[in-house]
Amino acid sequence: MAESHPELHRRYPELAATLPHLRLGSRPRPLTRLDGIGVRNRVWCKDDSGFGDGGWGGNKVRKLEWILPDVEAHRSHRILTVGALGTNWGLATALYARDRGIDTTLALIDQPVDEHVRAQLVRLHESGATVHRTHTKARTIALAPWLFARHGFPYYLPAGGSTPIGTLGYVEAALELAEQVRSGEMPEPAAVVTAVGSGGTAAGLLLGLRLAGLRTRVVAVVVNDTLPLAERDLVGLARGTERLLRSRGARFGPVDLGSGSLIVTRRWLGPGYGHPTAEGTAAARVAADAGLTLDPVYTAKAFAGLLALDEHPMFGDAPIVFVDTYGPR
Ligand SMILES: *Cc1c(COP(=O)(O)O)cnc(C)c1O
Repeated sequence: MAESHPELHRRYPELAATLPHLRLGSRPRPLTRLDGIGVRNRVWCKDDSGFGDGGWGGNKVRKLEWILPDVEAHRSHRILTVGALGTNWGLATALYARDRGIDTTLALIDQPVDEHVRAQLVRLHESGATVHRTHTKARTIALAPWLFARHGFPYYLPAGGSTPIGTLGYVEAALELAEQVRSGEMPEPAAVVTAVGSGGTAAGLLLGLRLAGLRTRVVAVVVNDTLPLAERDLVGLARGTERLLRSRGARFGPVDLGSGSLIVTRRWLGPGYGHPTAEGTAAARVAADAGLTLDPVYTAKAFAGLLALDEHPMFGDAPIVFVDTYGPR
């Protein structure tokens, strides 16, 4: 069945044996125009909110499709990872790893606690993950040796799962989008817009769009001030992912990740990670009219950026795509 083969394996058959994939969600994810949104009627949505057949969805599940097989290849039975209190990444990891018999330990730093975060903490508790509240990044780093020893030297994953292997999830999403463009579902978009928390989503999209031969730019709306997420960091992650693909045997020509392919903006960050903004709140209300449920930490701020981009003459009337990365259940 075509559905069980990721685009990466179809495009580079040599990867099927060297880069195992675990299907955790149904694809392709729908691509629909958000009629009535914006001023030019050219805003589309790639709906990754519905990606993931387990108890949580969204962009982190695409990363886990490549990460979990790597954890299993290392014969590891526990993952140690980090995030903030409301971590979508930690929750998705705990739930999907549990389904494979792998335990999860989370070291969580503080973030402003609101309704949204409280609900997430309940879900985290129910996921069965072992949670250490380390409060700050400095304390997490100081406690790292203890955490590793205490949990039997687990498989470590950085915040958001943004390793080159995790980033493959959005190389795959970009190839999927390119297939949808090729089959006539929409014209080639001028840009895709995503929130940036740890960078894997934006970096994967950038690499995948270039591999697919599209000229579509990536607009990266930074919502996190606790990690280095400048253009060079995101391009560096995309390069690392390109190297991974080549090292596993994929054959392709030179990839141009420069030339204004990536636009990184911190304009919608506000006071910092997890702090809601008035612009984000307003954007979430606009999105709700189109049937989208956005979260205050990531997608509301990215959608605020998208609405401003829509009004800007930079891309004329060409379509722009919002990636809905938030997957509550
Ligand atoms: C983690 C997250 C993002 C950001 O993705 P990164 O790959 O970490 O940059 C965007 N939206 C939501 C809802 C997320 O949970």
